[in-house]
Amino acid sequence: MAQLAILGGDKAVQTPPRDTFHWPIVTEEDEAAVLDVLRRGAMSDTDITKKFEREFAEWQGTQFALGFCNGTASLHAAMYGCGVGVGDEIICPSVTYWASALPCFSLGATVSFADIDPATLCLDPNDLEHRITKHTKAIVVVHYLGYPADMDEIVAIAREHGVKVIEDVSHAQGGLYKGRKLGTIGDVGAMSLMTGKSFAIGEGGMLVTNNRAIYERALTLGHYERYTSDLETEALRPFAGLPVGGYKYRMHQMSSAVGRVQLKYYDARCEEIRRAMNYFWDLLEDVPGVRAHRVFANSGSNMAGWYAAHGGASCSPGVNMALHKHALLQTCDVYGHGKPTRIANSGRDVRQADSSLPISERINYRAYYTPWFKKFYPEIVEEHAHAYRKVCENYQDLLEEDTSDPVLTGRSGTTTRG
Ligand SMILES: *Cc1c(COP(=O)(O)O)cnc(C)c1O
Repeated sequence: MAQLAILGGDKAVQTPPRDTFHWPIVTEEDEAAVLDVLRRGAMSDTDITKKFEREFAEWQGTQFALGFCNGTASLHAAMYGCGVGVGDEIICPSVTYWASALPCFSLGATVSFADIDPATLCLDPNDLEHRITKHTKAIVVVHYLGYPADMDEIVAIAREHGVKVIEDVSHAQGGLYKGRKLGTIGDVGAMSLMTGKSFAIGEGGMLVTNNRAIYERALTLGHYERYTSDLETEALRPFAGLPVGGYKYRMHQMSSAVGRVQLKYYDARCEEIRRAMNYFWDLLEDVPGVRAHRVFANSGSNMAGWYAAHGGASCSPGVNMALHKHALLQTCDVYGHGKPTRIANSGRDVRQADSSLPISERINYRAYYTPWFKKFYPEIVEEHAHAYRKVCENYQDLLEEDTSDPVLTGRSGTTTRG
């Protein structure tokens, strides 16, 4: 049996990575687009952003696309667009980034967290319906780490109860669920396009929808310069021109300029990522104890840009820590209500105790990072797969060394590490 490199054996990965992991791919075309904005002094204009929105909407297959300064703002506006307001509740999976849920607080609403499915790492449709109350306005679905959530079941439950579905597409731009583009299956899609994501344009976010009423209402929250009297939604007209939300959410045009260039190449680049990642997992198919976090081939679904690639088994951990246990969702009084914000606006105590969402709370014993290949160089993928195989075959050599608690080393966005 080969000796593990950490214990003095040969390293499985010998070939220099070259540009295998470099992301985003920025060429002279991106640079020229940014320079044009800079030289014109057009950073705060909206001409480039509007072009980007039209191209994005066409690519996405939606009637509307609205650019934002970041993904968090786009989610905030999607919630507002769906009518989330004072006293309302949203339902959101507990394992995600903060921004899938927290913007509801500043709308006077609160969140009830649902558990995730251990295979998909997305909202478990079997843990959804019993959480819907008369206060529930929207379900936020996250296509977590590129995996398309179980949209057929989730949308069916939502429709039955008259609840809107917001897709957080921050991990899965351009991905497919049974042949349909993610972000177009619920009522509205919102996503981050920040540099760490697979669709990476700088700081930026996008909202996509076919629902004019949602689009127009979302626009009024932070795009006051575009809130004009030609909006078709009757109820919005009396306040045209006013910054009703009090926010400014316009996309920076250096981002939209990069976005227009990135969009041209995005699908082909994701295709190459998926070839490399699928090859990696194909090589590990027969290795006991590991399981790919990927959709079945020929299902009409895919893993988009395979954001922050993960696998599942008992190895070093790393998904977001379950949100419902954080102090911010338990005790923190953000707005001075004199009680925790989580319960300040709701008629009932929606806080969830330890052990209430067992999969979300224990997933960090099972999920871990894998290499996220951006280029398909077979020999490099093979070496990395070999490293994983070696560790799986020799895992017993490592057991005595490991003293960490995987649950506490899971990630929770940029501000908190457990
Ligand atoms: C990154 C991310 C966001 C927030 O996007 P920003 O552009 O950083 O504001 C929202 N939801 C999820 C799931 C994310 O990963």
